[in-house]
Amino acid sequence: MTRKRVLSGMRPTGRLHMGHLFGALDNWRKLQETYDCFFFIADWHALTTDYADPSQVKEYTIEVVLDWLAAGLDPRKATFFVQSRLPEHAELHLLFSMFTPLAWLERVPTYKEQQEQITDKDLHTYGFLGYPLLQAADILIYKAHYVPVGIDQVPHVELTREVARRFNFLYKEVLVEPDALLTEFPKIPGTDGRKMSKSYDNAIFLSDTPEAVTAKIKPMITDPARKRRSDPGNPDVCPVYDLHKVFTPAGEREKVIVPGCTSAGIGCLDCKQILLKHALPVLGPVSERRAELARDPDAVRAILDDGTERARKVARETLGEVKSAMPI
Ligand code: SF4
Repeated sequence: MTRKRVLSGMRPTGRLHMGHLFGALDNWRKLQETYDCFFFIADWHALTTDYADPSQVKEYTIEVVLDWLAAGLDPRKATFFVQSRLPEHAELHLLFSMFTPLAWLERVPTYKEQQEQITDKDLHTYGFLGYPLLQAADILIYKAHYVPVGIDQVPHVELTREVARRFNFLYKEVLVEPDALLTEFPKIPGTDGRKMSKSYDNAIFLSDTPEAVTAKIKPMITDPARKRRSDPGNPDVCPVYDLHKVFTPAGEREKVIVPGCTSAGIGCLDCKQILLKHALPVLGPVSERRAELARDPDAVRAILDDGTERARKVARETLGEVKSAMPI
């Protein structure tokens, strides 16, 4: 039986951290067992925001794939490829741009949000407005059935479905309308309590050794109201406790951490030691695997070469069908 196809991508804008591990890669690892997964390095998408300094995009492409492999993604089960090596995506994007109303792009919530939030870059560009349409081309060119997304990305999948419908209505039933595979992600705060992000300098990277992880967790922000060891704390407002939810078994959280914290029975340092006891056996092997794989970057390039050729076959076929349907 042919497996249904899943497509997802990541921008090569830096090494991956725990937020990516639990926000995407863990899910991708499970999906590759059931679906025909296509995972791609979205380097053109990186240019939509980092166009002024794309100097590290190539290097980060390898770094990100090393992180994927270290997290357990398997190129024998899934297809890994690089977007910019497949000009078919760009051609389909161009063809879509002919019939996509401007209003569809202007109303995508991330368009306005990111223009307001990212103040150190000028995002009033044609590429930035059009990136959800490029995403639609990325998805539709593989006739993906599912796109794993968080709730904030659902409008992008909806746009993709609208583009597919419009194409199929105007020309011929060629494209497959994908469904969003809605995934609930745990909250992964950075060491300063804000969202984990490379740009906040608060991230725990997949490449961090157990020593580096320990050095980052020890000074991590806790419940800000718990100033002294004798003050009771509140795990609900503590970023360390958010990490406990990911690593520490529920029984130990309920029997040891919560009562210990709320009665000042345990100190924050004890609490972080318990977190490390559970986190390091998960994160340690990932960083070890990564270090091992990083010794052979040519092997990573070979994986990308092979995956890109596999992807090219599918992309060419769909583009051929699209062009003869238009016909062009
Ligand atoms: S004891 Fe643990 S959960 Fe409570 S405030 Fe300290 S670090 Fe947070």
